[in-house]
Amino acid sequence: MRRILMLLAFVPAACTVALDQNVQTAPPPEAVAVRGVSLAEFSRVQRQVEPVAERECRTRTSGLDCDFLVRIEPDPNAPPNAYQSLNKNGRPVITFTKRMLGQIDNQDELAFVMSHEAAHHIRNHLARQRKNAISGAIILGGLATLAGGTAADVANAQDVGAAVGARGYSKDFELEADELGTIITHRAGYKPSVGVQFFYRLPDPGDRFLGSHPPNPERIKVVNATIRRNGLQ
Ligand SMILES: [Zn+2]
Repeated sequence: MRRILMLLAFVPAACTVALDQNVQTAPPPEAVAVRGVSLAEFSRVQRQVEPVAERECRTRTSGLDCDFLVRIEPDPNAPPNAYQSLNKNGRPVITFTKRMLGQIDNQDELAFVMSHEAAHHIRNHLARQRKNAISGAIILGGLATLAGGTAADVANAQDVGAAVGARGYSKDFELEADELGTIITHRAGYKPSVGVQFFYRLPDPGDRFLGSHPPNPERIKVVNATIRRNGLQ
């Protein structure tokens, strides 16, 4: 069991938008000048999005800590990223790196990314990923044991099983977070139809087996369908 618990390290945070991915399958789009958002704009968007995300969290869940902490990573050299995690008390934390703020063009995009991260928590994705990782480790570890594997074989099988289990549904989780994130963005007073344009500048991960993120066109389709279905802008 101790080993299974160690495997939980596979799921440290639900992620969104690592702009440094080395998985680009198409040539980079023509360099578009991105304005970046200031710290003042960040505070403004946070003041709008956070209470809406907390209200949605309380309405849609029970027993989940809905007191979001939205923060900026103090290390100025941390790569561009935004992610959701839980602190040691189980409080949901949404972190933006400073370089990430430089990659976001306007407040609608920032609200969209912040809402997407909040949606990961509301949909309980970290806990669901952990459960999948443990199931994967138990299944593959059990198969290796049945096949007469050595202790090292079983340990390797558990590692692979945990990684596959954690990744198995992560594309679905991203699309779920995009859908609920679209609604939170709108309710916070921003335009998801503008915010979604952020995806056009993300490197497209393509449709890779066990990739962690769905292809960008699929994400844009989900956001646009959510906008249409709910009569948003
Ligand atoms: Zn995400």
